[in-house]
Formats: sequence, C-alpha cells, structure tokens
Amino acid sequence: MAHRVTFIPGDGVGPELSEATRRVLEATGVEFDWDVQEAGADVMDRYGTPLPEHVLDSIRTNGVAIKGPITTPVGTGFRSVNVALRKELDLFCCLRPCKSYPGVRSRYEDVDVVICRENHEDLYAGIEFEQGTEDAKRLIEAIAEISGIRIREDSGISIKPISVTGTKRIVRWAFEYARREGRKKVTAVHKANIMKFSDGLFLETAREVATEYDDIEFEDRIVDNLAMQLVARPEEYDVLVLPNLYGDIISDLCAGLIGGLGVAPGGNIGDRAAVFEATHGSAPKYRGMNKVNPMAMMFSGMLMLRHLEERDAADRLERALAAVIAEGKSVTYDMKPSRDDPTAVGTSEVADAVIVRLEAGV
Ligand code: NAD
Repeated sequence: MAHRVTFIPGDGVGPELSEATRRVLEATGVEFDWDVQEAGADVMDRYGTPLPEHVLDSIRTNGVAIKGPITTPVGTGFRSVNVALRKELDLFCCLRPCKSYPGVRSRYEDVDVVICRENHEDLYAGIEFEQGTEDAKRLIEAIAEISGIRIREDSGISIKPISVTGTKRIVRWAFEYARREGRKKVTAVHKANIMKFSDGLFLETAREVATEYDDIEFEDRIVDNLAMQLVARPEEYDVLVLPNLYGDIISDLCAGLIGGLGVAPGGNIGDRAAVFEATHGSAPKYRGMNKVNPMAMMFSGMLMLRHLEERDAADRLERALAAVIAEGKSVTYDMKPSRDDPTAVGTSEVADAVIVRLEAGV
C-alpha cells in the first residue's frame, strides 16, 4: 500500500529542492500518496499565519512528513514555523546523522556520527527575563532570598530546565535507535561538573536508562572535551545524545566535519509524528535559480524511508547518492573544487543523475 505522507514544499529554495527529492523518492519504486500542504512565507497572506492548523492536522493524521526549508519571518510577530512544528507535534528528538561520503570536500574521511538532540528543554525552553524589567527584578529578589546569591541588578536571565521525563525520553530514543540501526555505542554529552542539577540530572538519568540496554555500550563526555575530540578523532564516536543547546552546537560542528550544509540531513521525531528535513535553511537569494544542492533533502528522504521501514529502498537511495557524489560530475556548485566551476549542474540535474543510478540498480 502507498505511504500517505504530508509533503510541505516550503518557501525560498524549498519548492525546487522538494520537487527534486519527490522525484528521487518515487524512483526508488516505493509508492507514495503525497498529501501536499503549503506552509511558510508564501501562505501568510492567505491564512494569516505561516503555519495553518490544517497543515498540523495533516501531519497528525499521516504521522510522517517531509518538508522543504521555511523562512522565519522577521519582525512580523510570527515565531519560526520550524520551532512551532516541533512544539505542536511534540517532536522531542532532533535526529542528525553525519556521515562522510567519498567525494565530498571535507578534511575528514571516516565520520559516521548520529546526533540525537533533545528538542524542547534546556536554555531553549524560551523562559527569559529581560534586563531591567519588573519580572527580572522580582526573580533576582527571589533568587537572593532562596539561595543567598545576589545576581547583578542589570542582568538578563534565561532559565535552563532539564527534567527526568524529558531526559528519559530522549536517551531511550537514542538507545532504541542504536539498537534498530545496529549501532554499538551511545555517548551522553553534558557539563555535569558545573551544572549539577540540570546537566547532572541529565547524566544521572542517562546512566539509569543505559542499564536497560546492556547490548549497547554507554559512556559520557563533557561537552567541551567532546568538541575537541570530535575534531581530533571523530571516528571514535557513534550515537551522541545531548541536551538542546549542546545538541545544536555539536550538530553544526558535525555538519562541518562531513562537508557542510549541502549534505546534512535531519528529522524531528516524536512518538506520534516525524518530520524529515535538511539542516539548512531556505537560502532565499537562490530562490527559483535551480542552483542549490538537493542532497541534504534527499538524504532526509532516505531517513524517512528508513522510518517507514522501507530499508531496502533507503539503502538503494543512499548508494545512488553516494555514487553521484563520488563521481563528482552531476553535483551542484558547492560540491565542486571551486564555487564558480562552470561544470556545476543545477538542482534538477542532480535529481536526474540520482534517478539514473537508481534505475541502473547501482
Ligand atoms: P541558509 O541555510 O538558508 O543559507 C545559508 C547559506 O548556506 C546560503 O546562502 C547558501 O550559500 C548556503 N546553502 C544553504 N543551503 C544550501 C544548499 N542546499 N545548497 C547549497 N548551498 C546552500 O541559512 P540562513 O540564510 O541563515 O537562513 C535563511 C532562512 O531559512 C531564515 O529565514 C531561517 O530562519 C530559515 N531556516 C529554516 C530552516 C528550516 O526550515 N528548517 C533551517 C534553518 C534556517
């Protein structure tokens, strides 16, 4: 039976990347029944919001979506569609596999790290108190009263909540992923030596969850040490599980290790829904130019195929993408030795080349 999947083309370069990705996904032979839904800057006039309720309903019903990037409107009062999607659908895990493919221009060859970032808590919970406001003053007073520590009067304050519930969920998810994907090790990342009651709790909870998975190795690393080790010896790491802020930073570090945004896929996943999308944004200056790299979104499509248990199709798509990258001919400007290389092809030509490989059964 065809998989019914919500398909959100997005805005900026989103529609052209989405079209290229749809074509390669269909060329795997897997049947899709696309439920196309518009979101982003282009629908604001029509619906008064970049994320209409019917788009959320579609994802809730189908349980799976693939999405092009969406521009965050500046100065309109609307929050980011991407953040809203994660919150509304309780997509608590941001999955970012970072794998080296021969042919990608990068300093490293053997990176194969999977990042599982907690998506809701930590300093990104949005609990902030602006410097000089009445609320900030009240909080400073309350902290002085409770802890005896007086924060400077002219401080702005961001709160960092990390819960047992939120940590258990993300760490379990990381272990389940490791098991499902045949991975060997999970590393919990923290700064528990300094933040005992937030990162310390994350570490303690992760250790507890790890005892449920004796088939998978478990270790922990302090985040600054991990950053240094990833740059020095990335091949030593397998699955990383991190609170929100460290996850954000380490995801970008790992995207850099594997050759940058053009090839970095992702998924935001919860218990009831999953939304797959590239790590990069909507690159508005390239809109409609058939120029940017669709590989990150195509690799996100590969992750979606795995999520849908279409493992054979996912493997074939991965091999086809890897072959096109290795050959280095039908790739966009960002994957050529120089950015003004005249032999660079456009977005849709990359899709054509991947489809040729898929059809040849490479
Ligand atoms: P961006 O990722 O859109 O672009 C940064 C630069 O990276 C581009 O100028 C381009 O040179 C390069 N780049 C990005 N994607 C590429 C691709 N596929 N191929 C080749 N080169 C590529 O980041 P930005 O300019 O900071 O953000 C633009 C908009 O996208 C903002 O409104 C931002 O909020 C939004 N955004 C959306 C998502 C999402 O939808 N998940 C993620 C990040 C940013």
